[in-house]
Amino acid sequence: MDKWAFVEKEFARRKAADQVRTLTPVAPKGAAEVLVNGRPMLNFCSNDYLGLSKHPAIIEASVRCAQDFGAGSTASRLVCGDFTVFGELEREMAAFKGTEDALVLTSGFQANASLLPALADRGALILSDQLNHNSLIQGARLCRCDVKVFRHNDLDHLRELLISARKVSYSRILITTESVFSMDGDRADIEALAALSEEFAAILFVDEAHATGVFGRRGAGMCHGKNVDVVMGTFGKALGCFGAYVACSSRLKSYLINCCAGLIYTTALPPAVIGSIRAALPIAAAMDEERRAMLLRADRVRAAVHDLGWETGASDTHIVPVLVGPESETLALSAYLKERGILATAIRPPTVEPGRSRIRLAVCAQHTNDHIERLVSAFAGFKEQAA
Ligand SMILES: *Cc1c(COP(=O)(O)O)cnc(C)c1O
Repeated sequence: MDKWAFVEKEFARRKAADQVRTLTPVAPKGAAEVLVNGRPMLNFCSNDYLGLSKHPAIIEASVRCAQDFGAGSTASRLVCGDFTVFGELEREMAAFKGTEDALVLTSGFQANASLLPALADRGALILSDQLNHNSLIQGARLCRCDVKVFRHNDLDHLRELLISARKVSYSRILITTESVFSMDGDRADIEALAALSEEFAAILFVDEAHATGVFGRRGAGMCHGKNVDVVMGTFGKALGCFGAYVACSSRLKSYLINCCAGLIYTTALPPAVIGSIRAALPIAAAMDEERRAMLLRADRVRAAVHDLGWETGASDTHIVPVLVGPESETLALSAYLKERGILATAIRPPTVEPGRSRIRLAVCAQHTNDHIERLVSAFAGFKEQAA
C-alpha cells in the first residue's frame, strides 16, 4: 500500500475541479506594485489597505524596538516576565478601540483558534455566521460544543436559533461574526447584533480583521462605541504589521491570561513586531482622508464592474468581489488580468461556496485614480475578447 496515496488523490480531485493552489514568488515594488518574474504588476490583492507595511517611520520603530529588546521575545509572556512594550501597546490599543483593556495575541488565526475554546466549554452553544473566516470555524470546532450556523447576516434566522436554544440548558451562548466580511466585503449590523446578544444574554464575539484601520472613529473598527463583549482584530492587514489583539474588559483579559492556550503556550511576538505596531497605530488613526478617498475609489470600481455585467454581491467596502461563478472562468479572468499587468487572485472553493468563485479586489489607499482606470479597462478588455 502506498502511504502517500491520499496526497495524489487530493491533487487529482483538485486538478479536475480547477482548485489546485500554488505559491507565486513576488518582490515588493513601490506602494501598489509587486514584481512577478521581474515584471511590475499592479497589486489588487493586498490587505495592506493603508500601505503602512512600507512606511519608513514604522520600519524604523521596528528596528529600534529590536535593538532595545532583542530579535526574539525568549519565552511565553507568562514565563520570564512580560516585556514592558507589550503592556504599553495594550494600553494604547484599548484607548484606540475605546475598551477598558486589550490583550495582544500572536496572529488572527491563533487568536480565533484559542479565544473561542477559552470562552466556550463543551456545554456551550456557538452561533456562527455562515461566511465566517476559517479561523473562527476552527476555533468553534475546538470547543467540541454545539455549533449552529446562521444564514449570512440574517438576524431573523439568528433570533430563531436563539429562541430554540432556550429549550436546551446550554452553559452559555456565543454569537460569532466578522464586522467586514473578508471575501464579500459586506458588513454585519453590529448594533442589531449587540441588541440581540443583550436580549438573549449571549456573548457577542466580533472579528474586525478587515475593519481595523478602515472603519469606525479614526479607523478603530466598526465595534467602536458599541456594546460588543469581545472584539478581536489583526495588525497584519490595514496596520501593515503582524499579530492580533482582543479588546475587552480588564476582567476578561485577566481571565484570558489564565485560560487562553494561544497566549500561554506560545512564544510572545518578537519585539520588532511590537515596535512596528506601536508606530503604526497613531499613523493609521490619522488617515481619515485616505480612508475616505479609498472608499470612494471602491465605489468607482463597483460601478464599473456592474456596468460590465458582473455582480459584486452586498459589498459596500474596500473589498470588492467580482462574482464570476465557475472556477475555470474565474481563473481565465485572473490570467487575463495578469497578462495586462494586474495581480488579482481568483478565490475558489473551499474558501468560498461552490459556484461562487470570484476575483477578490482589495482597493487600497495607495491606489491612484490612474490605477483604478487601468483595472477597469482590463476588465472591459476581458469582456470584449470573450464576446
Ligand atoms: C486574515 C484573517 C484572520 C487571520 O489573521 P492573521 O493575523 O492573518 O492570522 C482572521 N480573521 C479574519 C476575518 C481574517 O480575514
